[in-house]
Amino acid sequence: MRRVIVLGVLLAIGGVSLAVKGFQAPKGPQGPPVAEIQKVKDNLYMLTGGGGNTAVFVTDSGVVVVDTKLAGWGQAILDKIKTVTNKPVTMIINTHTHGDHTGSNEFFGAVDIVAQDNTKTNMERMDAFKGDKSKFLPNKTFKDKLTLGRGKEEMDLYYFGPGHTNGDAWVVFRSLRVMHAGDMFAWKSTPIIDTSNGGSAVEYGKTLAKAASTLRDVDTIITGHTTLMTPADLKEYAQFNNDFIEWVQGEIKAGKSVDQAAAEYKIPEKYQGYTAGGSFMGGVKGNIQTAYKELGK
Ligand SMILES: [Zn+2]
Repeated sequence: MRRVIVLGVLLAIGGVSLAVKGFQAPKGPQGPPVAEIQKVKDNLYMLTGGGGNTAVFVTDSGVVVVDTKLAGWGQAILDKIKTVTNKPVTMIINTHTHGDHTGSNEFFGAVDIVAQDNTKTNMERMDAFKGDKSKFLPNKTFKDKLTLGRGKEEMDLYYFGPGHTNGDAWVVFRSLRVMHAGDMFAWKSTPIIDTSNGGSAVEYGKTLAKAASTLRDVDTIITGHTTLMTPADLKEYAQFNNDFIEWVQGEIKAGKSVDQAAAEYKIPEKYQGYTAGGSFMGGVKGNIQTAYKELGK
């Protein structure tokens, strides 16, 4: 229990520090949170600030919101939706369990909430969804694939395996050739692997590669926490993570301890602009530790 709480706090801090790093919302010292809106294509927008990137998909029957940022950001999301449509929010899709992607579900009241099976299970363990608040849990789930909407408004949700958690959904807006990748592709940085929610270091790169090879009709990717990316970026990120595991295997073979490996780790030179992603969930050393464990060391 304590672990879950600490995790939530860390993630909340993670979301905020990312906001500071890349997308700090313009707000006064006492002012309410303000999100930024960016048109991705036609009727699809990205809202930054307040945790994970939110996708806003305006359909004939209502607005679909992918990820609801940190708690307290619902009004900020709605304010920006109102700048592009008067339609009500009718559906939320949560890419995964973390509080910087599910935190403002509550704000939107009685709407359809969709997530992968394991993400619903993970969310059930969060204080934010206990008791009365269980009504803000997903009421529609899927295992491997789910298609929502019709015609030009069709959305395909996929699960390709564990990585960041064990319930990361990939949301494809088919007619627009755009995908929301959630935190499986949060940024060009060493990943956050949440083992308490089923994340996996060894599977991370494989899951990314599976997504990249399956979703060929996409040209634009909304990332979990940074700018828009391309399928080429996703392919490279898959390789980056697979290379990491290959390097870990080399360290194990050479008899290195986790501490020694952590001290030696450097971002390979060919991955320009990549960073070692801070200290959340143990940072790179945590990832090495996780990989060692998964590889039986
Ligand atoms: Zn996350």
